[in-house]
Amino acid sequence: METKTGNIIIEKIKESKITKVDFSNLPFGKVYSDHMLVCDYKDGAWQAPRIMPYGPVSLDPSAKIFHYGQSVFEGMKAYKDAEGRAWLFRPEENQKRLNISSKRISIPELPKEIFMEGLTTLLKLEKDWIPTTPGSSLYVRPFIFASGSGLHASPADQYKFFIVCAPSGPYFAGKIKVLIEEKYSRAANGGVGYAKAGGNYAGQFYPTQLAQDKGYQQVIWTDDNTHEYIEEAGAMNIFVRINDTLMTSPVSDRILDGVTRKSVIDIAKAEGIPVEIRKIRVEELISASKNGSLKEMFGAGTAAVISPVSGFGHRESDYSLPELENSYAALLKKRITDIQYNKAEDPFGWRFQV
Ligand code: PMP
Repeated sequence: METKTGNIIIEKIKESKITKVDFSNLPFGKVYSDHMLVCDYKDGAWQAPRIMPYGPVSLDPSAKIFHYGQSVFEGMKAYKDAEGRAWLFRPEENQKRLNISSKRISIPELPKEIFMEGLTTLLKLEKDWIPTTPGSSLYVRPFIFASGSGLHASPADQYKFFIVCAPSGPYFAGKIKVLIEEKYSRAANGGVGYAKAGGNYAGQFYPTQLAQDKGYQQVIWTDDNTHEYIEEAGAMNIFVRINDTLMTSPVSDRILDGVTRKSVIDIAKAEGIPVEIRKIRVEELISASKNGSLKEMFGAGTAAVISPVSGFGHRESDYSLPELENSYAALLKKRITDIQYNKAEDPFGWRFQV
């Protein structure tokens, strides 16, 4: 049976799958909730969005997504507080970034109202799917791809916007060991590194696998031109603490403007931590590690929130980071997750009730 909420037609699932899910043992992003949002772009306009049971999509084999990789995505989370209320964290940042990504690869921009109304209507319907065990959340994946067909290498004339949800446990358990990459690059000047375009991630898999074969979990990307500066940690922004100063690379053509990154910068400044946004040399990390001033390194991103680094590899050498009593990573993670799970005041106005 179909109903309508605002501008969205809703077709509900006949029988929920929720009782079949083990909420005490959730993987990351592998179990999907009952419903998804779908919105089509055709005849030069985004059409009315619909919510329907989660399920497969039928596409023409010549759909341009398969040939030219026209796809963009976002990653965000919904959190439940102790009173059972649902929250998002800075969703308008994801909405804006989706359009920044789309523009770069010639996907028509999606109106803000479709994104925000679609997101909130879907999450109200899927509220029971937001897990409450510590560290877990409902991972929300909005994405757009070229569904229009044609073997000519040019933008499609039809697209689909989806939002799917996955109740998820923590992304990484514990600290990660990372390898500074000097051969492969994630992004280049004038390229698409600042966009969350699907192909950016496919290009990371092979070098990441090579690093994993050597015993590391993630790659630290360096600049494509000189490989002398660190830029990102896998699909996370990178932070380094030398003595008491927290540093992160400036965003650029090659570096994604992460929501977690900018939140960490603001929280750190509010905590009185000295923050420097500047290019960080690999050589500087190595000499700081040797003289003991390199205190911490961590990745920051929605999926893992803050992922502390236990050590890094560079060429044939490994460098380990100290265990700290009062780490910035632990403090900043607590501050940000307390805001996300509505456990503390939100002086920045970032929390968004669903
Ligand atoms: N860098 C890259 C390349 C990413 O894919 C992500 C994940 N979106 C991030 C950084 C972190 O961004 P955010 O904090 O918005 O999740």
